[in-house]
Amino acid sequence: MSKLPKTASVVILGGGVMGASTAYHLASRGFKDVLLLEREPFFGMGATSRCAGGIRHQFKTEVNIRLSQASLPMIDAFEEETGQSALVQKCGYLFALTLEKDVEVFRKTVELQHVLGVQTEWLSGDEVRQLAAPCVFPDALAGSFNAEDGLADPNSIVMGYINAARRYGAVCITNCSAIGIDVSNNQVRKVQTSLGTIETKTVVNACGPWSASLGNEIGLEIPVFPLRRQWFVSEALPQLPPTFPFVIDFAQSLYFHREGSGLLSGMSNHNEKFGEDQNVNSEWELEHIEAAIQRMPLLENSGIQARQAGLYEMTPDAHPIIGPTPVEGFHLLSGFSGHGFMQGPICGKLMAEILIDGEATTIDVSMLDYNRFAEKRLIPEYNVV
Ligand SMILES: Cc1cc2nc3c(=O)[nH]c(=O)nc-3n(C[C@H](O)[C@H](O)[C@H](O)COP(=O)(O)OP(=O)(O)OC[C@H]3O[C@@H](n4cnc5c(N)ncnc54)[C@H](O)[C@@H]3O)c2cc1C
Repeated sequence: MSKLPKTASVVILGGGVMGASTAYHLASRGFKDVLLLEREPFFGMGATSRCAGGIRHQFKTEVNIRLSQASLPMIDAFEEETGQSALVQKCGYLFALTLEKDVEVFRKTVELQHVLGVQTEWLSGDEVRQLAAPCVFPDALAGSFNAEDGLADPNSIVMGYINAARRYGAVCITNCSAIGIDVSNNQVRKVQTSLGTIETKTVVNACGPWSASLGNEIGLEIPVFPLRRQWFVSEALPQLPPTFPFVIDFAQSLYFHREGSGLLSGMSNHNEKFGEDQNVNSEWELEHIEAAIQRMPLLENSGIQARQAGLYEMTPDAHPIIGPTPVEGFHLLSGFSGHGFMQGPICGKLMAEILIDGEATTIDVSMLDYNRFAEKRLIPEYNVV
C-alpha cells in the first residue's frame, strides 16, 4: 500500500468515477504529485458502484447533451486508452411517453439533439410498443430512441482510471478519510485526514453524495443533497430478447434493462426525502414491483436475485458543479444528480483542464459554476429519472 505523502500539488477527495477520472486526466497530462484519497477499503464503493450503468445522449439541456457527446466516445475508446474494457453494450435507450405534456417537451428535446448532431429517433406510439416488447405500453403516445445509448460497467471504469493514473505516477490511497481542510487568508493550506496531514494548495472535492460536509467548516455552503434511489434484478428471464433496449416509462420514472440473464428495474420514489440512508426501502420496493409487473408481465413469475439502494447527489437544478469556489484552491466536481457515471470520463478531463489550463477547453462548462445558485442562474433539466 502507498504511504500517505506529506505534500501534494493536488489532493482529490473521493475515489468514485469523478475522482478516478480526474486523477487519470491530471497524471496523464504530466501533472506531478497527484494524490487521491478514498475513505472506503476499495475505490468506487459510493454512488458509482450502486449505479444502473446507463449511458445516454438523450438530455434536454445543451450542456448535458454536449457532455454526453464527449463522454460516450471516451467510454467506447476506454480499453484503448487505459487497457481496461468498459464492457459497453449499445442496447439503445427508449423513452416511452404516455402523457401529452411529456410528448411536447421531448419533441423539442429531440429537435435540440438533432441541431447538436445527436441522431435520436422520434417514434410513434406503435413504434414504441414494438421496440419495448415484451414491455407493454398500450398507453404510449410517442417516444424517443437512440441506438448509440446503452450500458457500461462502472467498476471497470473506476479501476481502469485508477490503475492508469497510478502508471502515470498518481498516488491513490484507500482507507483514508478527509476530515478537515485548513484554510488561511481564504486559501487552502492543508488537508487533515484519518492517516495524517497533507500540505497542498489545491483540493478537488469529488465526494459525490457526501460532498457538502467538507464545505461546512470552511464556511462554504455546498448545495449537494443525497437522495436515495434503488433497483432490483430479477432472476433469469430467458424470454427477454437479446436486443431489449434500456426502456424508460418516463411518466412513472420506471426503467428496465437487461442485466446478465435477468432484468434490472428501478423506479424513483418522488416522496423520498434527502438523507444518507442506503438501505433498500422494502415498502417502496413493493410499489415498484407492482408497477414493474404492469409494464413487464414476465416479472410476475420471477424472483429477485439482487437489490441495491444508493444515493443520487442532487443539486437544486439537477446539474453538476464543476470548478472553483470562493475559497481559493477548493474546487468542486460534484452534484451530478443521477447521471454522473456517464459524465465521469469527460468531467474528470474538464477538471484537469481547469487545474492545468485555467479553464475547461474541450467543452464550455462555465455555466455550471458554484455561484449560479446565489446568482439565480439555475439550469432546469427535465430528463432526470
Ligand atoms: C441507484 C442509482 C442508479 C444510478 N444510475 C445511473 C446511471 O444509470 N447512469 C449514470 O450515469 N449515473 C447513474 N447514477 C448516478 C451515478 O452513480 C453518480 O452520479 C456517480 O457515480 C457519481 O460519482 P462520484 O464519483 O461523484 O461519487 P461517488 O461514486 O459516490 O464517489 C465519491 C467517493 O467519495 C468517497 N468519500 C466521501 N467522503 C469522503 C471523505 N471525507 N474522504 C475520502 N473519501 C470520501 C466515497 O466513499 C465515495 O467513494 C445512479 C446512482 C444511483 C444511486
